[in-house]
Amino acid sequence: MRILLTGGAGYVGSACLRWLLRHGHDPLAYDDLSEGNAAAVPAERLLRGDILDGKTLAATLRERRIDAVMHFAALASVPKSIDQPEAYWRTNVLGTKCLLDAMLASNVKILLFSSTAATYSFDAPMPLAEDSPQVPQVPYGTTKLAAEHIIRDYARAHGLGYAILRYFNAAGADPDGGFGEHRREETHLVPLILYAALGKRRKVFIYGTDWPTRDGSCVRDYVHTDDLALAHQLAVEGLRPGMGRIFNVGSGTGTTVLEALRACERVVGRPIPQEIVARRPGDPAVLVASPAKLERELGWQPRFPRIDEIVETAWRWHHGHPDGYARR
Ligand code: UDP
Repeated sequence: MRILLTGGAGYVGSACLRWLLRHGHDPLAYDDLSEGNAAAVPAERLLRGDILDGKTLAATLRERRIDAVMHFAALASVPKSIDQPEAYWRTNVLGTKCLLDAMLASNVKILLFSSTAATYSFDAPMPLAEDSPQVPQVPYGTTKLAAEHIIRDYARAHGLGYAILRYFNAAGADPDGGFGEHRREETHLVPLILYAALGKRRKVFIYGTDWPTRDGSCVRDYVHTDDLALAHQLAVEGLRPGMGRIFNVGSGTGTTVLEALRACERVVGRPIPQEIVARRPGDPAVLVASPAKLERELGWQPRFPRIDEIVETAWRWHHGHPDGYARR
């Protein structure tokens, strides 16, 4: 399939693009490079454009004869969304509406959307199934949920086929070590631990060990980017106009922050400088997926079910490319 990936030069989008390329598809990235990295995708597959530029989007969909869109383009930092909700509503909600309008104008009927575990109520019982209550607590979650609603309304009215994939914590890098996580400003746990291991940061700060969890630190469900990509491939290949599907994408295993840190220390082979500090605003204690629906309905099975395996791929990337994509 000819697939347009908005945000296709970003961390998850570019991993999906490379995966689709290896699995017989014809993917193209559409990215403004505000967060994405040009070096993460082959040059001939990168189109530079803004998600709010409806004219260019519609022309691209038409001229490139696109069969399906995977919509990754978004602002995706929980802490930043609390301080800048206006930017999150603009990019995540208006951006999604702009894309849907362009799809209608150019008669593209298939859409996959990157949603998030942050749309769920943090008080729901774990692991979370797809029908768990959605009561987001932070603007990142409210804007992603608003985008889900727009997609469902448009799909109902215009016969689109859509799949909403609610990611848990994306982590890891290409297993060959050539591509991985690199942001202008990093806020995520695994890269920050490995930056401390490399000496790029003095230490990693652990946001609270007074949570009601087995060791007092927050529990998350880390899922490898190749396993996210596999979910996208399976979802897009089974989607037809008029269908609507929703899946959690997580491993089903909860890992505490301290367990993730220990996994990193095992992989790196030495202690990593660390300091326990106060809780970070907006964090829930526990977020763990039930991937049962994804396994049952799409036959998905994670290739990297264990945190150590995920960290090994991330370390190969960060150790081999301490400046990320900067020097490419
Ligand atoms: N975390 C931490 N130190 C950091 C970054 C994150 O202790 O420097 C914790 C954070 O509080 C959360 C978990 O690690 O419990 C995962 O955070 P991340 O930002 O990677 O993803 P999120 O769960 O917010 O999407």
